[in-house]
Amino acid sequence: MSAIPTYQHWRLEADSDQVLWLYFDKKNATVNTFDRAVMEELSQIVTWLASAHEYKGVIVASAKKQGFIAGADISQFSQFKDIAQATELVKRGQHIFDQVAALKIPTVAMIEGFCLGGGLEFALACRYRVAEDGAKTRLGLPEIKVGIHPGWGGSIRLPKLIGAPQALNMILSGHTVSAKAAAKLGFVDAAVPKRHLIYAAKHYVLQPPAPHQAAWWQQLTNKQPARMLLAPWIRKKLRAKADPAHYPAPYALLDNWERYGVDGQVAMDREAASCGRLFFSDTAQNLVRIFFLQERLKGLAKEVQFNPRHVHVVGGGTMGGDIAAWCALRGFTVTLQDLQPRFIAPAMQRAHALFKEKLKEAYLVRQAMDRLVPDLHGDGIRRADVIIEAVVEDLKIKQSIFKSLESQAKPTAILATNTSSIPLDEINVVLQAPQRLVGIHFFNPVAKMPLVEVVQGQKTDQQVVEKAAVFVRKIDRLPLPVKSSPGFLVNRILMPYLMEAMALYEEGVPAPVIDKAMVEFGMPMGPITLADYVGLDVCLSVAKYFSNYFHTPVPEKLLAMVEQKKLGKKSGEGFYQYDKKGKKIKEKEATSTKPLEEISERLVLCMLNESFACLREGVVADADLLDAGMIFGTGFAPFRGGPIHYAKTQGIHELYQQFVKQQEQRGDKVTPPVAWEEVV
Ligand code: NAD
Repeated sequence: MSAIPTYQHWRLEADSDQVLWLYFDKKNATVNTFDRAVMEELSQIVTWLASAHEYKGVIVASAKKQGFIAGADISQFSQFKDIAQATELVKRGQHIFDQVAALKIPTVAMIEGFCLGGGLEFALACRYRVAEDGAKTRLGLPEIKVGIHPGWGGSIRLPKLIGAPQALNMILSGHTVSAKAAAKLGFVDAAVPKRHLIYAAKHYVLQPPAPHQAAWWQQLTNKQPARMLLAPWIRKKLRAKADPAHYPAPYALLDNWERYGVDGQVAMDREAASCGRLFFSDTAQNLVRIFFLQERLKGLAKEVQFNPRHVHVVGGGTMGGDIAAWCALRGFTVTLQDLQPRFIAPAMQRAHALFKEKLKEAYLVRQAMDRLVPDLHGDGIRRADVIIEAVVEDLKIKQSIFKSLESQAKPTAILATNTSSIPLDEINVVLQAPQRLVGIHFFNPVAKMPLVEVVQGQKTDQQVVEKAAVFVRKIDRLPLPVKSSPGFLVNRILMPYLMEAMALYEEGVPAPVIDKAMVEFGMPMGPITLADYVGLDVCLSVAKYFSNYFHTPVPEKLLAMVEQKKLGKKSGEGFYQYDKKGKKIKEKEATSTKPLEEISERLVLCMLNESFACLREGVVADADLLDAGMIFGTGFAPFRGGPIHYAKTQGIHELYQQFVKQQEQRGDKVTPPVAWEEVV
């Protein structure tokens, strides 16, 4: 019997049943990812395994505390020299996974926690997959989210295993699924509780059943006639979600599948070639950059020790109710205070709907409801580690609440306000320790918006800011540190853009045309629709507030509409009309003499001007944080990399000149902007 070799990133062990265990334990890393060194070692291991006839099979597992494999190491993407080299490296990965698939002994991927991208492609190359049926297990091929598509055989093996419709749905959306869902789809053989995982994995080695195969009708979906029928239909659905000019990867994947199917080397070669090409697209470069920006936000205040367990929320309205629900969903004990039970009841109802949607299982929903406690008298204040105030936007009321909170809260508790506009240094004047007050500014709807601004007033203690950022991470949101100034970062940039859109409307450009221009630019929704969704009364109050600070005009049309009680979606009418369910009533196709590019240019320049002003005033620490804030706070065209990055790629000076020209053409309505390039 030959001795078991040793490796840097992998560990091979044999157990008493002659089953080999291949542990992935990437050196100097907390999470397993594939890079060149890891892949080359895997190749050596597979060569050794091919002649290890004395063993009954091999089980691949992670030796890390968290997760199976997160996928390819994305930082390597920037090191490719050219398309040819990138394609060669992708092919090398394909070859190694093909070697895995060709092993004669049974191979089992034993999955706990995340199994993503290249990690799932590796697991798909194994003969069997067993996964822990736990909340942390997520499986998927999310490559589309960084502008490429699976390259190591995943776009071929998955459709082959479970049929094209389900597989393409997963790959094209980049969505992940639970172990149970994966088992139902057919690409995990068994989803079992943790205590049965090892037993299940060994079962597949010691009594190997026939490997899973797609049902006959699923196999048919990959045959040429079905591909010719399905591909145009999927492409049409895709077009409704993503513009091929902005997001080429899903279309490239679909084209490959349509043309080459899932059999033979040619399908693999096309997968590698198109992946190699996509690495060098602007979209992939920008999306990879965003991935790292997100990692940066996730890493803020990582070192700070703070373990909050109890959150107390004052104000159970739109925001407070949803913040409380979100914190309970994320495992916190939450007490929710309002003036009367009737103000808390709708929040509890919304929380129940959220838990049902996210947690599915009745017992998990019950547990989450148990964690969310209505608290009319504020009994939770004394026990809370984080207290978030989300009452009406009124300075006097907020001051009196904080005065009372300070006298009851634990000395270590965070005192936070969710105010959108009141400067922290105006609220904290009533506190004995004003340095305790921080802003934790959520966006609406709380369950959908990943960004939370962590607002530092002039007096706020740095440690309090860091603890607030830790808390935001613990509820799985992205913290963005900002200075307390009007509108903070996101609303400060968004509002002038909305006002400019309304100015265009007043000039006679139809709302659907304005919206179309910005959707084509890459925004998730147009500015006029956004204003209707936010509520025109809210827009008006922010516009008036901004006009005090920045002397910007308040659009006449907005004033008139609010006066006529046209408040947007919530009142059934704003710039658009809505039915009883809040669905926009379709209008006739609108036209305008103004080209769409001219409209989007004017609106984008307005956003850029405000972005540079924020940088100049130090609202955020640097340009990357600003880009991250706008992408995660507003959905600013991700494939463009954020406003400042976009300006840099287009030429800051040229764009600035265009903005100045635009301002000059509008006469004395505006103050001349300060040069942009000086601040980056
Ligand atoms: P809301 O009017 O929906 O809710 C406010 C709640 O506070 C009401 O239920 C009210 O009964 C309660 N309240 C008032 N005085 C109270 C008191 N003394 N004690 C306990 N509860 C009291 O308001 P909202 O939209 O949820 O906004 C709340 C805060 O969040 C504001 O500061 C607002 O600026 C900020 N904010 C709002 C949004 C948004 O989109 N609505 C987004 C971000 C931040």
